[in-house]
Amino acid sequence: MSKLIDSFGRQITYVRLAVTDRCNLRCTYCMPAEGIAIVAREELLTYKEMYRIVRILTELGVRKVRLTGGEPFVRKDFSSFLEMLSFNDLLETINITTNGVLIAQHIDTLTSLKKIKSINLSIDSLQKDRFQKITRRNVFSNVFTALELLEKSRLHLKLNVVVQSGLNTDEINDFARLTHHKNIAVRFIEEMPFNGFGLRETNEQWNFTKILQEMQSEFDLIPLPQQKSATSRDYTIPNHQGTVGIIPAFTRTICNDCNRIRITSTGVLKNCLFDDGVFSIRDFIRDGASNEDLKHLFLSLIKQKPKNGFVAEKNRVKGAVSESMSTIGG
Ligand code: SAM
Ligand code: SF4
Repeated sequence: MSKLIDSFGRQITYVRLAVTDRCNLRCTYCMPAEGIAIVAREELLTYKEMYRIVRILTELGVRKVRLTGGEPFVRKDFSSFLEMLSFNDLLETINITTNGVLIAQHIDTLTSLKKIKSINLSIDSLQKDRFQKITRRNVFSNVFTALELLEKSRLHLKLNVVVQSGLNTDEINDFARLTHHKNIAVRFIEEMPFNGFGLRETNEQWNFTKILQEMQSEFDLIPLPQQKSATSRDYTIPNHQGTVGIIPAFTRTICNDCNRIRITSTGVLKNCLFDDGVFSIRDFIRDGASNEDLKHLFLSLIKQKPKNGFVAEKNRVKGAVSESMSTIGG
């Protein structure tokens, strides 16, 4: 069977699929206060189209899908889609990235589906007022309740914390301390300019090294063996149940082993987070493409995958990075 192998010999086994561009929060690092111009409903991929795209990709060697958005749980019948996707026998893992606001009522479904292994919960502050300032919504208690429910469930819980200069860097060690009694993976993400307006001017650059030094000022960090294609560098802290990690999303030191592609909520294939979209898979499908046509298309588009995120950014034709992460799927 043909595999998705790019021109640098990297095999693609992982797809991130944005199930919607809609969101119930307005995180300042992701979108403007008024939100983004959402697309008409018929421009979004249908669940059937998503199922078909994932099926074709698994026939080409993809084994893992991450469902993201926008906020996946705001899309109607998202739980049913999870059940539908679970029927794909070639798919091994379905993971979800969510802000957690609506997840509580779905935990039974999530835990009943064996392919769902872990949940990435985004939470950027442990302080109610500050959380509200960052997300522009008063929902801290829903998200913290989700954190506690997920931690008690069989699902592996990872926290996504975007490190925002001038806003939450004084909480890095508070988050790391959470791993003492909780078996969770806290991962700090470098802030990127995917926010609806572009690069934010800050006094300090909170990159990988600075985040690491901040944690080392309080904890002994022991590096964990690096998993191939992992998005984060992970560490244990003696006597802590959980782990901490850093995702060098902006400094892009992890591109060499990249095994990922993205499909946006409108069905655009992205070979790299930093490219500006490669091809509308949705239009190709709606123009009547067969499964064989789709396979050939993916096999040829993957050859355009750039070496790394810097090359992808340089090759953009639509100008500097400024689109909201919620339109791409983080
Ligand atoms: N709404 C869901 C959530 O927040 O988890 C899923 C979509 S969100 C776009 C996916 C991830 O991207 C979240 O962890 C979020 O914190 C992260 N993200 C969004 N904008 C970002 C930015 N400008 N820089 C770094 N990470 C960002
Ligand atoms: Fe919504 Fe997630 Fe973006 Fe926050 S980061 S505005 S929760 S899509």
